[in-house]
Amino acid sequence: MQNNKKDPTIATIGEFGLIQSHFAPLCSSKKDIKVGIGDDGTVLSLAPELELVVSTDTLVENIHFSSSDNPYTLAKKSLRVNLSDLAAMGATPSWYLLNIATPPTTPIAWIKEFACGLKDDGERYAITLTGGDTTSSKGGLVITITVMGQVAKNRALLRSGAEPGDRIYLSGTIGDSALGLAYHLGKLQIDNPEDAAYLLNRHMLPEPRVDLGLQLVEAGIGCGAIDISDGLRADLQHICTASKVGAEVDFEKIPLSAAAKRQIEHYGDEVIKQIITGGEDYELLFTYGGDVEKIATIAQRVGVAVTDIGVITAGEGVDINRGGEPVELGFGGWTHF
Ligand code: ADP
Ligand code: MG
Repeated sequence: MQNNKKDPTIATIGEFGLIQSHFAPLCSSKKDIKVGIGDDGTVLSLAPELELVVSTDTLVENIHFSSSDNPYTLAKKSLRVNLSDLAAMGATPSWYLLNIATPPTTPIAWIKEFACGLKDDGERYAITLTGGDTTSSKGGLVITITVMGQVAKNRALLRSGAEPGDRIYLSGTIGDSALGLAYHLGKLQIDNPEDAAYLLNRHMLPEPRVDLGLQLVEAGIGCGAIDISDGLRADLQHICTASKVGAEVDFEKIPLSAAAKRQIEHYGDEVIKQIITGGEDYELLFTYGGDVEKIATIAQRVGVAVTDIGVITAGEGVDINRGGEPVELGFGGWTHF
């Protein structure tokens, strides 16, 4: 991150100054928060007919983001990748915890921008900070967010809900984020500046499909569901493993943005591999055996395109076919080790 030696750093305000001035104001006084920031733990009230869904994700400097990335956008992304997990479970976002390990040299201006991003998206997705932990780091910055959401009893959407004969549905478009990242890292040249900006934005600022997840639960659609963080192929495989089924996907039906299509036209098969295995799309992938019209109505209501890309089978594994031929991908998707 940028640090002009004269800028005040968090070392000057300390751990408690940091929490008090920048994080505590993000805790709203919603009535279901009995105790917010400031005690040893937060106390939250739950309605008896609801279940709590909890999920956590960590973003590490130099693995998930670069030190030069905009802190406002980084804060939003940290929250959004977590919100995407709640979306995939069909849960209503409620509260979150923020654990941050940060070098003492971090400028206060950076923290202000970061907190501003959290505030804006906290309001946008109606989710409130209720606690966390703050430590110094001798390495880079590490941000862990833990989200909590609520869903009606026994109604959470699970990876294990897919059945043979179900159609496979995908929200939005995939591949944009992987192409945006490749561009950001200087590994892909994109000549059209509008395409470059669009793809980069899809990487930096994903749209968690919270409303879509909620509507699927609301409509009583029992389905297998996952959000795409590791790539279409890998995440569909996760549904197949959990549900003990297979999947057949028609490559031609996979929804792609105009910008991604132009990269395929330009670069061919190498780009196709990135699109299917690249990850960080944060779209919802779900399976459903019922009326297609029901899905179309929901898609229209939430204002997100939902595309049928294939079928769940009684077999095993994920087959992606293009003109009757399997698409050769070489590897499965993003893994850390
Ligand atoms: P303890 O030492 O009892 O664990 P801390 O000093 O770590 O307590 O935290 C004091 C309060 O500040 C707690 O309510 C905690 O949840 C909150 N807190 C600490 N760090 C953060 C953070 N990064 N974001 C939000 N709340 C935080
Ligand atoms: Mg603590």
